[in-house]
Amino acid sequence: MFGRAPKKSNNTRYYEILGVSNNASQDDLKKAYKKAAIKNHPDKGGDPEKFKELAQAYEVLSDPEKREIYDQYGEDALKEGMGGGAGAHDPFDIFSSFFGGSPFGGGSSRGRRQRRGEDVVHPLKVSLEDLYLGTSKKLSLSRNVICSKCNGKGSKSGASMTCPGCQGSGMKVSIRQLGPSMIQQMQHPCNECKGTGETINDKDRCPQCKGEKVVQEKKVLEVIVEKGMQNGQKITFPGEADEAPETVTGDIVFVLQQKDHPKFKRKGEDLFLEHTLSLTEALCGFQFVITHLDGRQLLIKSNPGEVVKPDSCKAINDEGMPLYQRPFMKGKLYIQFTVEFPDSLGPDQVKALEAILPPKPTSQLSDMELDECEETTLYDVNIEEEMRRKQQQAAQEAYEEDEDMHGGAQRVQCAQQ
Ligand SMILES: [Zn+2]
Ligand SMILES: [Zn+2]
Repeated sequence: MFGRAPKKSNNTRYYEILGVSNNASQDDLKKAYKKAAIKNHPDKGGDPEKFKELAQAYEVLSDPEKREIYDQYGEDALKEGMGGGAGAHDPFDIFSSFFGGSPFGGGSSRGRRQRRGEDVVHPLKVSLEDLYLGTSKKLSLSRNVICSKCNGKGSKSGASMTCPGCQGSGMKVSIRQLGPSMIQQMQHPCNECKGTGETINDKDRCPQCKGEKVVQEKKVLEVIVEKGMQNGQKITFPGEADEAPETVTGDIVFVLQQKDHPKFKRKGEDLFLEHTLSLTEALCGFQFVITHLDGRQLLIKSNPGEVVKPDSCKAINDEGMPLYQRPFMKGKLYIQFTVEFPDSLGPDQVKALEAILPPKPTSQLSDMELDECEETTLYDVNIEEEMRRKQQQAAQEAYEEDEDMHGGAQRVQCAQQ
């Protein structure tokens, strides 16, 4: 179109789509396609366009002949060579052929829906420091993978026989006599073939998996915990759960569980800290150091002349948690202050304080009027406990009253008899 550059039309895009380098091996391509295709499958909420692109890229690069043309002349050359039609194949067919000839999901025209393997969910304990700084954890898991020797067929020859126990249906029906004219029909998976409908001849069994079609594999997964992730957030490894024949592999899902921190509490993007001040600090100023989650020492101090009231709260901007995927933005650090008052004061202390503190409100009553007042005595109470006790008392009384009335009625009844 634009005067056709002889080479260097785009011949890297397919590699970029699959996320591999342009000297990737067939194996690399397979792995990359498999991972991305599972993740982007429209049945799993993926973008159909992206799914199609993946199939196109994989179709070309997995064919040595097409790959060579692509590497030399780019996409356009292939389109011409393929007889005009871009995307010659249904992306769902490519996906299916890749996963052993069975279609997956309603997007395919071939009908039978492939089973989806179960997701495996693991809790992953992390500290608040981990969520503040980000970290990675290597976890070793063992899982079933399709046997490489028999490609999940279970037999050397690739053949399997219809199970004689269930004629291939995978289910057996048993009939139970419940009474003279009553029978019960029960359906259960065939025990001979474990519900698969097929058996493998003993001599033909694959020596690697013993006909099980899958083998155990140890795998180390590196879980990247990003800065600012939340308690309960999921980290998904698509298609890394147990493999099984004719099944789309489920995901391994790690669910973050934040451990309690001795000092800091987290609410969303903010951190909370409690600090107790002495009365002198509250009145005359304070200064203290806290060690933040990344080890930095923060100097916290009051402004000159400032008085901190009990149960008041102050905040510091940008010292809260980093925001997920925007780690340069941070929430706030809130400090909640408790003020510790002395239990009592000596007469000299009282005198000294009175001399400094603002004067008391003066009494407007004369001595004579005061003489006419009644004296009272104050004592300490825990008001919450007091109220709770009163409620319990009220409930108890109501119950007893009820009992009394009931008992009374009975007495009347007895008298009548
Ligand atoms: Zn059977
Ligand atoms: Zn095998």
